[in-house]
Amino acid sequence: MSSGRHFLQIPGPTNVPDRVLRAISYPTIDHRGPEFADLGLDALDKLKSVLKTGADAVIYPSSGTGAWEAALVNTLSPGDRVLMFESGQFGTLWANLARDLGLDVEFVPGDWRSGVDPAVVEERLSADPGHRITAVAVVHSETSTGVVSRIPEVRAAMDRAGHPALLLVDTISSLGSVDYRHDEWGADVTIGSSQKGLMLPPGLSFHGISAKARRASESAGFARSYWNWAPMLESNAGGYFPYTPATNLLYGLREAVAMLHEEGLEQVFARHRRLAAATRAAVEAWDLELVCRVPEEYSPVLTAVAMPEGDDADKLRAAILERFDVSLGAGLGRLRGRVFRIGHLGHLNEPGLLGTLGAIEAGLRLTGTAHRPGGVTAAAEYLADTSG
Ligand code: PLP
Repeated sequence: MSSGRHFLQIPGPTNVPDRVLRAISYPTIDHRGPEFADLGLDALDKLKSVLKTGADAVIYPSSGTGAWEAALVNTLSPGDRVLMFESGQFGTLWANLARDLGLDVEFVPGDWRSGVDPAVVEERLSADPGHRITAVAVVHSETSTGVVSRIPEVRAAMDRAGHPALLLVDTISSLGSVDYRHDEWGADVTIGSSQKGLMLPPGLSFHGISAKARRASESAGFARSYWNWAPMLESNAGGYFPYTPATNLLYGLREAVAMLHEEGLEQVFARHRRLAAATRAAVEAWDLELVCRVPEEYSPVLTAVAMPEGDDADKLRAAILERFDVSLGAGLGRLRGRVFRIGHLGHLNEPGLLGTLGAIEAGLRLTGTAHRPGGVTAAAEYLADTSG
């Protein structure tokens, strides 16, 4: 049994602030009673302020995968063609889910080291004059690789192609940590979830819904019930839900978004960029390689690090957990064993990051992983020399 706090430095679920834990511990109330409406309306308003939308939003009691499915069944019909991208493990899983539902997935191969290429979006849509493609689905922050795709450029590419497809964006590991603007960037469905930048436990997922997506849902051909926007939006208008909501997580959502606004969203984004830059300074000093190969796409929320040839990332992670009580993210899918991921999102400050990097540097040494010492110093110097 170790003393002090466990360091949960995976790229989600993230550390839940004490304030949010306390809010979640309030007594559960009658979700059909008069008191609930204020909570429901406030939680939805707060969610919209983070999504940056004045349009519709919904909250599901589900993990992010549920909201992936919900986005597809609310807007599309069986057999519809969807343009999807192999950005990494999550891009791949979303495409598999779409195929399972009976969608016709046009899957653009990727190298798991870079984001969605806007030029490819334009090219694929321009090659579809009959508009068979009904949606373009992009993962904003690919949590398996530490790469952030450039959504405004993807939107601009769609507009240049003059194509009417819907834009569906997964912001599961970016919402509340990385600049994102549902309305201004022209997203049709934005998908988020609770357990990452929003500093909540797992269990809630979200949609921002454009007017165009709402119209599409009226003629969408998929059978849907639990995920159906129509009864949800109807109940939400009065602050209620069509079925039992995750009441205590809604208390948490209200508190967590209040914390983000107290710090200021822009400041929250800047803090994430800064902690990410300090992390990359450490990785560079260790002479290890970043998975992301495009500097403009470096993730503010996590850094995926490639192991030297022949070294096992899972052995390193296990040693760091056992000796220092620090959890790091595993390599996912085809990166299994070859990559470890440092989560630096959510409720995290400079000493929290330096402690994490210190445990990693000690772990590199104790497992005999080929590296150059000095990563922690490099990160500390970066933090000392830049202001927050
Ligand atoms: N999309 C992204 C980018 C993710 O990071 C995750 C989970 O980590 C998911 C989708 C799946 O979400 P969940 O595990 O909450 O179902």
